[in-house]
Amino acid sequence: MITFVPEPHLLDSPRGRAWPRPPVPAPVRGTVPATSADVVVVGAGPAGVAVASALWHHGVRDVVIADRTGRPCGRFFGRIDRLGQRVLRSPYEHHPGVEGYRDCELLDFARLHWGRLTPTERRQIRMSQAGHRSVVPVDVFDAYCDHLIASHHIGRKTWQARVREVVPEGDAVTVRADRFSVTARHVVLCLGEERREAPDSWWGGGSAPAGVSYWDESVPVGGQCLAVVGAGLTAAHLIAGALAEGREVHWVVRETGERYQCADVNSSFFRPEGRLRFNRVGWSERLELMSAFRRASIMFEFRPLLERAQAEGRLVVHRGAAVKSIGPGVGGTTVVRLAGGGRIAADHVQLALGTTPSIGEGLLPGEALSVRDGWPELDERTLAHVRAPRVSVVGAAAAMVLGPAARNIDGHRVATTRAAAAIAQVLQGGRLPAPAKTAVGV
Ligand SMILES: Cc1cc2nc3c(=O)[nH]c(=O)nc-3n(C[C@H](O)[C@H](O)[C@H](O)COP(=O)(O)OP(=O)(O)OC[C@H]3O[C@@H](n4cnc5c(N)ncnc54)[C@H](O)[C@@H]3O)c2cc1C
Repeated sequence: MITFVPEPHLLDSPRGRAWPRPPVPAPVRGTVPATSADVVVVGAGPAGVAVASALWHHGVRDVVIADRTGRPCGRFFGRIDRLGQRVLRSPYEHHPGVEGYRDCELLDFARLHWGRLTPTERRQIRMSQAGHRSVVPVDVFDAYCDHLIASHHIGRKTWQARVREVVPEGDAVTVRADRFSVTARHVVLCLGEERREAPDSWWGGGSAPAGVSYWDESVPVGGQCLAVVGAGLTAAHLIAGALAEGREVHWVVRETGERYQCADVNSSFFRPEGRLRFNRVGWSERLELMSAFRRASIMFEFRPLLERAQAEGRLVVHRGAAVKSIGPGVGGTTVVRLAGGGRIAADHVQLALGTTPSIGEGLLPGEALSVRDGWPELDERTLAHVRAPRVSVVGAAAAMVLGPAARNIDGHRVATTRAAAAIAQVLQGGRLPAPAKTAVGV
């Protein structure tokens, strides 16, 4: 068997190049939007940008976008840059641009900027054109998102606000944010995912103790010895960053070994046949497919780097090691105790335990939200909540309809196509499909 091991240099695209950026209006602060709109989109990450762009093509222009950060894709690039991630994991075909309309695709955009790309980045474009796996520079993706934001007038519709409540009332939905309320005919929740917190048993619950931080926190990481807990790409970025700074790293992996894969999701689920496989089965089989085919893994490009560090003794991997507790040790160290009796004393511990989809709990009133096994029940045709047909979801929360790829950028495209078309149809005088009783059978 041939083993595919791309070289680590693919991970090193430059960041922060000067792209000819279209003017993106500054986030709106201090003022408030109109009190009514056709559509409110909550969350301006890649999913929210995809939805707003698609609605624009459908002729739906009276849109208010509310986002905690106030900057379209702000949380996405903030997280990526905190980790020092230079390339996306997803290929050129996966982007928040609109399917089925004359719009610039990510690959077209990169080719338009050929002169700015490094030889490695150009080779990746050729790989993509030839139908092979390719990696996309974060810099290119960022400039492309700005292009989408400017060309679909998203910046000027985005308001910095934390949405507290989404209340369906008859033919309308009221969105209550900390600074304003907007009543809309439709709402699309594009809330993304929050970081997964450590179990209470590790230190008794609550915020992390001194010497412990999560992957998405900007906390100074001190000392020479770092322990990283987690088996995914986020953990790999933390480890690579620490090794580059000359630290010694202990890597705690609960599974019996680290897994190298192109994507977290089996690639068939990005294609129609994978979605069909998911659609054909009932709820419990869908749950099984979700756990079997979306598992933490690391891009192949990291493998030579991490294996070399192990061989040189700079990286120690603790495989099959579940964390039992984390607490203070002697001399200002933090001790990770493992279920098998092992113990790691480190200057700092970083946790990369994954993310959990935000499904609208806490926003929608209980009677409007039907939750099953932690997932919202959605109308499969419109991606609207079965008990709130004017509130749709795009992003990770749609995974029990669209399969595990719903949590990735390509899944947002598929969800957007479905949700935006349904909303536009109703706004333009069509009928809202009769609510489905349940999303999918047993
Ligand atoms: C480090 C990292 C790298 C990744 N790389 C890739 C990749 O290469 N390819 C890929 O396909 N996927 C990748 N993913 C998965 C990725 O998270 C998603 O594809 C993408 O970010 C999801 O977009 P989103 O819009 O659903 O969520 P987000 O980007 O998280 O956006 C959601 C937005 O909603 C806002 N929000 C949430 N609740 C509220 C509220 N109540 N009020 C107001 N605003 C709110 C949030 O603040 C946020 O700005 C990566 C994830 C991480 C963490």
